[in-house]
Amino acid sequence: MTPDAEFGYELLVCRYAELAWYPGEGPRPAVVARQLGTKERRWDTVVIEVDPAAFAARRAFGDRTIDSDLLHVVRHAPAEWAWYRDALPHPGYPWRYVRQAVHRAAGRELIEKRRRNNRIQLRRKRPYPDWVKRIVAIENKPDLDRSAADRLADQLAHDVETCLADEAWLATETTGERVEPALLREMPVEAGILATDFEGGVGADAADVAWHPSDLAPAEHERRDPETVTRRLEIAERAYGKGWRSFADTMRPDCRHFELRRNGQALVPYCAAKETVPTARECSGSCASFSPEPPQWRTKGWPIEGGPGKGLELVLDRRRERERDRVADGDGESD
Ligand code: SF4
Repeated sequence: MTPDAEFGYELLVCRYAELAWYPGEGPRPAVVARQLGTKERRWDTVVIEVDPAAFAARRAFGDRTIDSDLLHVVRHAPAEWAWYRDALPHPGYPWRYVRQAVHRAAGRELIEKRRRNNRIQLRRKRPYPDWVKRIVAIENKPDLDRSAADRLADQLAHDVETCLADEAWLATETTGERVEPALLREMPVEAGILATDFEGGVGADAADVAWHPSDLAPAEHERRDPETVTRRLEIAERAYGKGWRSFADTMRPDCRHFELRRNGQALVPYCAAKETVPTARECSGSCASFSPEPPQWRTKGWPIEGGPGKGLELVLDRRRERERDRVADGDGESD
């Protein structure tokens, strides 16, 4: 199975995680995103378990990701006015880049800045909260075969080593059958196995825990170096800003064949021309069947400005917003 063909499955796993986290135990507030990680390792699905009050404080900084340059400024901005070079730790790269980041952070109203004696000073608007509790990586393999099991074993071993994630899972589709025990034996014992059954649609009960995970190298967590802490925060920030519904950003909801279809409690993209869930790669400007929305869809008779394509993006944005509200409220139940 090509990575692209796993796309539809991945969306269902993301929605399941949003509905049911933590599998087998019950609600924990969490943010779900997909296709995130580092240069060396990309995770299919990422679950960021959060502290609800701290998450609500993070939301006060806005809905967009705070990228690594901005994070350096925002995390260390002092309570009282100070020259930025006095206030911030040396970033390990030239100060002029920090100065740019200070301007950018002020432009987004993440901090305050002013000029005194020809020096740029900054002050925080509010402390940046410690909102990330745990980071969990999920690998999605709807069809688990031997080669996939071998590859996964390597990847999960890497996760154990780097200690960027606290926990790792494999999600695989079982449609009522047990996961092949021989393949399970290939997996590192630390990784959990989630046996999904999405035939009847996605809901909080659409998966079982076939194997419980263990914390990846818990002793290491205590000794995490500042660089790892920062990299984890960067991943969490990207997850927060991106979520898992951002697929519409790279697909073509402005194509007349593009639809969102319900699968249980999930909304997933559907191509009416190809009568399938299109992959992110094929549903692009180079798709031979792409057909733009007729201009009249965008003007008359359509209740949302911008036409149906824009309307679908709004539906996804609203859902993401609603999920963020729910997590900040500390409400584990998703509707
Ligand atoms: S026809 Fe192509 S561009 Fe249009 S929805 Fe289908 S896959 Fe996407």
